[in-house]
Amino acid sequence: MPRKRPDADESTTPMKGHSVTCRFCGQKNAVKPDYVNGEANCGRCKLPLSNEPHKKFANLHKNDYVHPLDKKALAAVKAIPGVDSALKKLLEWTGESAIRVMFMASAVKVTPNQCPDLYAKLEIACNTLGVEKPDLYLQQNPIVNAFTGGVEKPIIVLHSALIERLNDEETLAVLAHEVGHIHAEHVLYLTAARLIEALINVSIARLIPGSEIIKLIVSMGLASALLNWSRQAELSCDRAALLVVQDPHVIGRTMMKLAGGTFASKIDYDLFLEQGREFKKNYDESRLDRFWADVMNSGLSHPFPIWRVAEVLEYVETGEYEALMEKE
Ligand SMILES: [Zn+2]
Ligand SMILES: [Zn+2]
Repeated sequence: MPRKRPDADESTTPMKGHSVTCRFCGQKNAVKPDYVNGEANCGRCKLPLSNEPHKKFANLHKNDYVHPLDKKALAAVKAIPGVDSALKKLLEWTGESAIRVMFMASAVKVTPNQCPDLYAKLEIACNTLGVEKPDLYLQQNPIVNAFTGGVEKPIIVLHSALIERLNDEETLAVLAHEVGHIHAEHVLYLTAARLIEALINVSIARLIPGSEIIKLIVSMGLASALLNWSRQAELSCDRAALLVVQDPHVIGRTMMKLAGGTFASKIDYDLFLEQGREFKKNYDESRLDRFWADVMNSGLSHPFPIWRVAEVLEYVETGEYEALMEKE
């Protein structure tokens, strides 16, 4: 391969007006001479090019952003006597390989060559939060969802409907939320919560070897404490998503699409935000418990999007987000 002439080395002398370095993934992109800031997308990660800086956290700790409700609910789980040995038994029965099969049967593995822009987004989320890259799968599924599971080695699965619905920035937000579960050390308990949820109502659970441990977990109150925690853990990961996309409105619009489905293009975003604020205002402390009980009983894997967007707005408006962005 011929060596570049020193004056052609773009890594030290970017040609101003002709190339723009992606603030997210670092790829250098050739742009037209009449390029206007923000009016083109990166060829690698497909995110919008911009002159704005993008912060990568050198030393982010989960306690820097974890939501107080997540902390409180996790403490309640950990206070149950015998929790660790019960969960260990549950996960011993399923094992890492069973979980991987359950989560990724019929899924496509995302690699630097397979869906490279998705892989680049995973890399951005991991580099920003400081997390080792997990395996990422894309699964054909009409339900707009994504999840993270595993025991020793976490994996992330994105449903096809999610990718089809969201734009590139919103897809980054969802991936960053999932990477947040890894960073916040949720994965083991989250996997246990999903397993319990999946097995608890299945009649064949009586026939499979894990049924005794499921009965034990339900009887010791661990199932409800764990499921309650798993919904509140989502609020921490919405914050992690914000730390990666670094624009609260990307999170807001993602939630709007989750709430409004295919009609999201016709929904007024400002009114949606207002609805979120009003929703939160109406729920004082005494109503909060009832709210979470409703969410639990409704069998949702995530809290309502309206609630989530209100929580993210509050995180920004109290100045907590900005303080963390300025730290280090
Ligand atoms: Zn890029
Ligand atoms: Zn989540």
